[in-house]
Amino acid sequence: AHYIANPTRYKNMAYERCGRSGILLPKLSLGLWQNFGENDSRVNAANMLHTAFDSGLTHFDLANNYGPNYGAAESTFGSIFKHDLTPYRDELIISSKAGYDMWPGPYGMGGSRKYLVSSCDQSLQRTGLDYFDIFYHHCMDADTPLEETMQALDYIVRSGRALYVGISNYQPQQTQQAIKILQDLGTPLLIHQPRYNLFDRWIENGLTEVLKTEGVGSIVFSPLAQGLLTSKYLNGIPKDSRAAQEHQIYLAEKDLTSAKISKVKALNELAQQRGQSLAQMAIAWALNNEAVTTCLIGASRPAQILDSVNALNKLDFSQQELTAINNILKE
Ligand code: NDP
Repeated sequence: AHYIANPTRYKNMAYERCGRSGILLPKLSLGLWQNFGENDSRVNAANMLHTAFDSGLTHFDLANNYGPNYGAAESTFGSIFKHDLTPYRDELIISSKAGYDMWPGPYGMGGSRKYLVSSCDQSLQRTGLDYFDIFYHHCMDADTPLEETMQALDYIVRSGRALYVGISNYQPQQTQQAIKILQDLGTPLLIHQPRYNLFDRWIENGLTEVLKTEGVGSIVFSPLAQGLLTSKYLNGIPKDSRAAQEHQIYLAEKDLTSAKISKVKALNELAQQRGQSLAQMAIAWALNNEAVTTCLIGASRPAQILDSVNALNKLDFSQQELTAINNILKE
């Protein structure tokens, strides 16, 4: 049977304007970096997309190399989209990216026009979409002139492959330059995608100022530090967690130091005092930064998405709570 979306899906989600643009994004967006690969359950993947959309998450984030293997998350998404979500295309903001290594040889990574345009075409083919809502350059490439990369993004929009453009992981100064080049080309920068969570606050050191001044939105990734900012690792590494996965290179046992876990414990207690889970507090904390438009979460099962959505029930922080958090983090 085909999926029918929950008729009350827009009741409980809040939407925020993305910089000075016409686009509103849900406070939570779902990323498909992990758990949508070749070895993951397609049924679970479909259930997660349904649960997200049923909860008002209108934004799904992809990249050319999400898998494993590279391309697999886009293919999985494409097949579920075709089966279930086609009638809802105009209710969705779907993004993809190119920048990291994707295929062999000199044209399969970096920031060249050659790579970005051909990778965008491949991503459209895998997802079966006619266009992406947002297409990103995934990371800075110091060897390609910034003008060429921005001209490629502008061309991707003018040729109908995407509606808006974004950049990810760019430092403040390069962001400022990219904004200027794109403005002159007539394709304004919609959004920046940086990492931001309680353990990684680098954007507070210059980037958020640039984004606020220039009216560019932001979607922050790994707001839960890949699951570290939840209660799951307080007593070891559960079998069904990301850190326990074989071949997992992004979150390993060595990242779960006792110093880190003791901070997580203290944060968990504070979250409990606020009447929410640590995951919910971590999301609320990231959204509390006024430069942040939406939190880009990942999930391994539908229940996590529902738990994370409930962060919206308590987003505000007292000055005492913020001070307590800063004290825990600097110890
Ligand atoms: P998170 O920090 O949200 O981590 C997600 C993981 O945390 C889940 O897979 C799950 O792990 C656990 N989790 C999620 N919700 C809960 C919950 N409510 N309770 C308990 N555990 C929970 O984000 P990701 O690191 O996955 O990144 C999110 C997205 O950001 C990616 O999918 C991608 O779209 C984007 N991204 C972009 C990058 C870039 O360079 N632009 C780089 C990295 C990510 P478990 O498996 O243990 O259950």
